[in-house]
Amino acid sequence: MKTIIEPFKIKSVEPIKFTTKEQRELILQEAGYNPFLIHAEDVLIDLLTDSGTSAMSSKQWAGMMEGDESYAGAKSFFRFEKTTRELTGFKFIIPTHQGRAAEKILFSILGGAGKYFPNNTHFDTTRANIEYSGAEAFDFLTELGKDTSAIADFKGDMDLVALEKFIKEKGPENIPLVMITVTNNAGGGQPVSMGNIRKTKEIASRYGIPFFLDACRFAENAFFIKKREKGYADKSVREIVKEMFSYADGCTMSAKKDALVNMGGFLAMNDSDLAMKARNILIVTEGFPTYGGLAGRDLEAIAQGLDEILDEHYLQYRIRSVEYLGEKLTDAGVPILQPPGGHAIYIDAKRFLPDIPPHEFPGQAIVCELYKVGGIRGVEIGSVMFGKTDKKSGKFIPPPLELVRLAIPRRVYTQSHIDYVVECVIEVFANRKKLKGYAFTYEAPMLRHFTARFKPITK
Ligand SMILES: *Cc1c(COP(=O)(O)O)cnc(C)c1O
Repeated sequence: MKTIIEPFKIKSVEPIKFTTKEQRELILQEAGYNPFLIHAEDVLIDLLTDSGTSAMSSKQWAGMMEGDESYAGAKSFFRFEKTTRELTGFKFIIPTHQGRAAEKILFSILGGAGKYFPNNTHFDTTRANIEYSGAEAFDFLTELGKDTSAIADFKGDMDLVALEKFIKEKGPENIPLVMITVTNNAGGGQPVSMGNIRKTKEIASRYGIPFFLDACRFAENAFFIKKREKGYADKSVREIVKEMFSYADGCTMSAKKDALVNMGGFLAMNDSDLAMKARNILIVTEGFPTYGGLAGRDLEAIAQGLDEILDEHYLQYRIRSVEYLGEKLTDAGVPILQPPGGHAIYIDAKRFLPDIPPHEFPGQAIVCELYKVGGIRGVEIGSVMFGKTDKKSGKFIPPPLELVRLAIPRRVYTQSHIDYVVECVIEVFANRKKLKGYAFTYEAPMLRHFTARFKPITK
């Protein structure tokens, strides 16, 4: 088979700034060894996130000029509504400024003390919005999904037995919603099978509970179904997407992922009563129902992006480019979470740096070194982000995994950029014995990874 190429040509370019290793050492020191505090301008290849970092197409930019900025009833809204409705099949489409705004509205209606929400794995903002409402969030990933080295097709699947047991235990009346996240972002971008979505819906229906998708990466998930699930090879991704949504009663969506835009989101559902309540909150917190928190031009760009994301040449390139990075690293012996997911490669920092204990932040050590060596920015997803200190004993409690995520922005980097990333990671890996751990010099009480400052541990 021939090389799978970028299915676009480049019409507009943005130069990236080169720095020397000496400059990067200074920059890192000034940023308190926290890549979140590095100015983006000083980053050569930015793999911090795939959220809101997509390159828009010429048609999306043209759509920006077509944007109708009328307060009520804008033409752009009706295009957005029509596209979204045709894609998802949901009756009520409510625009929001991003995914978490849709979550905030949904869970302020359905949440509250004494309520429980199951999901394959909650994304952090989803969990935060549920907990903020006073309700509790529970993850039901399969055992296979928790095994970082097992190679399997659908490691994002919901554990159906555990889900049903949970519903019986807590009582269906206390579970306002069952949710599945596609792909499973917090679980390594692993896909969920159609069979699992269908069976989850069956279980939810049996107990009279609505079923929603956290649909941020619906197209990437659908492409994995086409490639891996029996019976789907000859279906179009559009058909597969429609089938996925057909099992759901609604969805939340961050358009910053699979709608190929820099800002936007929506909430969609079939229940008219729920839609009315959601629109009432929307008006107070986001804006009039025909724009949500968005400008008319944003709605145009989302409508166009939702069409482009289903292009199978694009999806083949997208999934392959992530897999390519994973393959090269695996060939060089770099331990990564297997198999590569849809939007990112996760380096297993525990296996990469077995001599640095979790409380000295092995993931942070890799992230800092990768910036120093190549100007590449990744993100630690381990003890810095999720580690806790036991209030009574003062003992440090690490999360189960120490990971470094290299998220790939959509349509932004070419294969040579990725080859360069591979070279840098391999260099860091070759010198891993020289790496040192890190200690906090400043730590905020909540979501500390964003603002923390560190110093290298010198022993
Ligand atoms: C990004 C994301 C969200 C939140 O969306 P924002 O647009 O960042 O607010 C929710 N769920 C998943 C799975 C996500 O990846």
